[in-house]
Amino acid sequence: MVGSTNIKHTSVLVIGAGPSGAIASTLIKQQGIDVVVLEKSHFPRFSIGESLLPQCMEFIEQAGMLEAVRNEGFQYKDGAAFCLDSKYATFDFQDKFSPGHGTTFQVPRGRFDHVLANEAIRQGVDIHYGYETTGMDFFPEYVELHYQTDNGDRNRITADFVLDASGFGRVVPRLLNLESPSHLPVRSSLFTHVTDNSPGDKYDRNKILITVHPEHKDVWYWTIPFSNGNSSIGVVAEPYLLDQTPGDNKAKLKEFIHQAPNLRKILANAEYFMDVGKLTGYSADVKSLYGDRFALLGNAGEFLDPVFSSGVTIALKSASLAAPLVVRQINGDSVDWEKEYSVTLRQGIDTFRTFVNAWYDGHFQDIIFHPEQQSNVRAMISSILAGYAWDANNPFVAESKRRLNALVEHCRGRH
Ligand SMILES: Cc1cc2nc3c(=O)[nH]c(=O)nc-3n(C[C@H](O)[C@H](O)[C@H](O)COP(=O)(O)OP(=O)(O)OC[C@H]3O[C@@H](n4cnc5c(N)ncnc54)[C@H](O)[C@@H]3O)c2cc1C
Repeated sequence: MVGSTNIKHTSVLVIGAGPSGAIASTLIKQQGIDVVVLEKSHFPRFSIGESLLPQCMEFIEQAGMLEAVRNEGFQYKDGAAFCLDSKYATFDFQDKFSPGHGTTFQVPRGRFDHVLANEAIRQGVDIHYGYETTGMDFFPEYVELHYQTDNGDRNRITADFVLDASGFGRVVPRLLNLESPSHLPVRSSLFTHVTDNSPGDKYDRNKILITVHPEHKDVWYWTIPFSNGNSSIGVVAEPYLLDQTPGDNKAKLKEFIHQAPNLRKILANAEYFMDVGKLTGYSADVKSLYGDRFALLGNAGEFLDPVFSSGVTIALKSASLAAPLVVRQINGDSVDWEKEYSVTLRQGIDTFRTFVNAWYDGHFQDIIFHPEQQSNVRAMISSILAGYAWDANNPFVAESKRRLNALVEHCRGRH
């Protein structure tokens, strides 16, 4: 659906109809406030990032979209599997410390994002596809957005408040010079979808499989099974390693898969039916997650790293935190965006950051492949892997660095 093209003013303008934009706009509309979403592409469109975490389900449920998502027949997901040489470890998300959903789905994002956007429209959100936001001016009483449509028309719309949900488009950070470099090193990823034709006994379709490269411990692969027999596959490495591998992107990806013995077997008969995509330098940060009359959601704010599939969860958490604050502000109440949004959102992002750093320095691998694990500690780790990175009752959230370091020492001492 494309909404009316001659709207001049709205209470809330959302840039981007991806997961954070669809959920935030719906939560705001549910409170009787008008929302317009400008989305530059036409759905369904390809997007990377197909493995959800159970914590996501809470936000989808809040927005009244859980039934629609469940009805799509997406691949059930109950955990994560990790493989390094002959070592194999699994985490069952239902066996976790924090309360809440213990299972979720692995979703081709074109379809998933379309379901969320259609649900937003069903609940009264006005989404305009093919509308690219190109500029922004601030006035004391409102914000003015400039946009260009697919057929080249340029126009403006004013809003009382703007939510930037433009993902890697990072519209507001670019326009307002808010971008700040990520502290994580630049990494590259090659990825595609295949018909995996995988032997069932070697591939648990209910889990994401994360494989560590046999020689380079900071190089890893994802294998995300879908319900239709296809899988999303990808490799993450420092750019020089991909650059020095001969051939085009498909040849490079195949060569890396060949180097991992378990993937060589699982993907032996895989049919590559799509181009292989490449992304480099996707980790990003901003100087501030909010400002006068705007806030940044999901990837438009900070994006860490794909290894724990935290992207959509952080995006939906940001939407769920920001939406009621926007409603309060529109209704004339005062909002402390620093405390109520930025600090709260960054608590969970910082938990994931500790785990991401521990993954790349090898500490987390020592933990998950350790032969003896205490069940209560496993449940706490399982909670983080399931996305419950904001549950301050979990010691691995409250004191993530200290607890993780202590656990690493413990695991190493026992070897
Ligand atoms: C290699 C890789 C693998 C990943 N794997 C996972 C995973 O397994 N699980 C996971 O949860 N996350 C994963 N992620 C992260 C995940 O893809 C993102 O975190 C997530 O999509 C963020 O959602 P969002 O709503 O913030 O933005 P997006 O999903 O990117 O949506 C943004 C929308 O804004 C639109 N837009 C952009 N610019 C404009 C503009 N100027 N005007 C109007 N509209 C605009 C875009 O068209 C898009 O539809 C991965 C990321 C990478 C790089």
